[in-house]
Amino acid sequence: MTTLADPVPGGRPGDVDRATALSDELGSKGVDGVVLSYVDTAGISRVKTIPTARLASAAAWGVGMSPVFDTFLANDFIVSTDVLGSPDGDLRLYPDLDRLVTLAGQPGWAWAPVDRITQEGEPHPGCSRTVLRRIVRAAAERHGLAFKAGIEIEWSVGRAEAADGAFEPAATGPAYSATRQVKLSDCTAELLAACAQQGIEVEQLHPEYAAGQFEISTAALDPVAAADISVLLRQTIRAVAGRHGLVVSFSPAVLAEGVGNGGHIHLSAWRDGVNLHSGGKGRYGMTEEAESFVAGILGHLPALTALTAPSPASYLRLKPSQWAGVFTAWGRETREAAIRIVTGTAGLTDRAANLEVKPVDLAANPYLALTGLLAAGLDGLTSAAPLPEEITGDPAGLGTEEATAAGVRRLPTSLARAVKEFRGDERLQAALGPVLADAVIAVRMGEIDAVAGLDDEAVAAAYRWKY
Ligand code: GLU
Ligand code: MG
Repeated sequence: MTTLADPVPGGRPGDVDRATALSDELGSKGVDGVVLSYVDTAGISRVKTIPTARLASAAAWGVGMSPVFDTFLANDFIVSTDVLGSPDGDLRLYPDLDRLVTLAGQPGWAWAPVDRITQEGEPHPGCSRTVLRRIVRAAAERHGLAFKAGIEIEWSVGRAEAADGAFEPAATGPAYSATRQVKLSDCTAELLAACAQQGIEVEQLHPEYAAGQFEISTAALDPVAAADISVLLRQTIRAVAGRHGLVVSFSPAVLAEGVGNGGHIHLSAWRDGVNLHSGGKGRYGMTEEAESFVAGILGHLPALTALTAPSPASYLRLKPSQWAGVFTAWGRETREAAIRIVTGTAGLTDRAANLEVKPVDLAANPYLALTGLLAAGLDGLTSAAPLPEEITGDPAGLGTEEATAAGVRRLPTSLARAVKEFRGDERLQAALGPVLADAVIAVRMGEIDAVAGLDDEAVAAAYRWKY
C-alpha cells in the first residue's frame, strides 16, 4: 500500500532513519545509485540519480530539479503557461521509500518514484503523483471509497541494428503465436525473473497482434502504486531488452498503419473491502454506485482522451475495429466499446470484477490518466448518473441514427479535438487544478504544433522512440 502522506522538508517522522538503514542495506548489496523518477505532462519519464549514500539526505531535503519540465514536449521543446515554463525556480524531488526497489535489469541501481514539493515545503501544483494521491485520499475521506487499478502494457520490440530510426520487428510469425514466444524466449524469461525480484506481480505475458508486439499485465493495486508500477515496469522492460541487444517502444503507434500499443486501465471501486462491481442489483452484478461510476467515465471520455491519449501518435492508434475502444459505449467482455465490463469467472467475481478502459495508451502520464478517470467516475457516482444500455458487437457497425439514439459517440479523432473537449470539461480541469490543467492544454497544443504538416508516417516516426 502506498502511503497517503505528502513529504515535508526535513523528512516525515522516521523517514531519515529509514533511508539511512536502506542506503546501508542497498550499499551492502552492491547498489551504487538510486534513480529518482517522475512523469512529465507530456508523458515522458524524467529522472535524476543520486549515489546510494545520499538517500537519507534526499529523504530529508529532497533533490533539486527545475519545474520547467512540466511544460516540456516529447521532443524536449519547451512551451509555457502563466505559471510554468520559465527558466526560473527549483523544486525538491522526494523519493517515496515505500516504493523503492532494487532494479534487477540494471545491476548497481535502485529506483524510487518521487513527489515534488516547493523549496518552501508546499505541494507543487504540477506534481501529478501528488494530485492522484489527493483524489484517492479525498474519495476515502468523503465517500469511504478505495480503488484498485492495473495498467496493461503493450510494447513493440525492434532490432537495434535497424537504420535511420526505422522499426524492424524482432519477432515475426503469426499473432499471439508460439513462433514469436520462442523467438524472444530468453528476453521474456529474464523479464519475468526481474519482475519477481522487484516484487511486481505479473499475471500474464504474451506475444500480441502486431509483429514484434508483446503485452504484460500485472495485479491490481491502489491507484498510486499502479501508476508507479507502470513506470517501473517500462523501465525494466527497456533495460532487460537492452541487455539482449533489442530496442523497445511504448509509442501508441510505432507504424502509421495497423494495430497500435495500448495501455488499457483496469479499475474497480471498493467500500469496506467489498467490491462495488460485484454482488449488486445492477447489470452483471454491478451495484448502483458502480453503474454510475461507469456512466461518469463514459460521459467524460471525450475530454479524458486529452489525458489518456495525449500524443499526436495516439490518434494513429485510436481507430475503429482495432480493439482500441473508440466509441463511448460499454459492454460485457467486448473489445470494441471504450469500456469493457469484466465480471470475472464464477467463484471469483467478488475479487475480480472490474472495468477496463481501452482508449488509453502509454504516452499518457499514468498519474494524470488515473486522476482523470477517478474524477470522472466519482462525478458519475456522486450524481447517481444513469448508465445507458449495453452495446454488443462493434459500434462501428451502428448507423448514425442508431448511434445517436443509443448515446454512442466516436471519441476525438485528433489531439486538437481532444483538447477542445478537455477545455470544455470543467470537472476534469478542476480535478487537476488550474496549474496542471493549463499545462496539459499548453503541452498538447505544443505537440499539435510540433507535427503540423506531417503525414501519418512522419508522425509515427517522430514519436516512435520517445515513449
Ligand atoms: N493493441 C490493442 C490496443 O491498441 C489492444 C489489444 C488487446 O485488447 O489486448 O489497445
Ligand atoms: Mg492486448
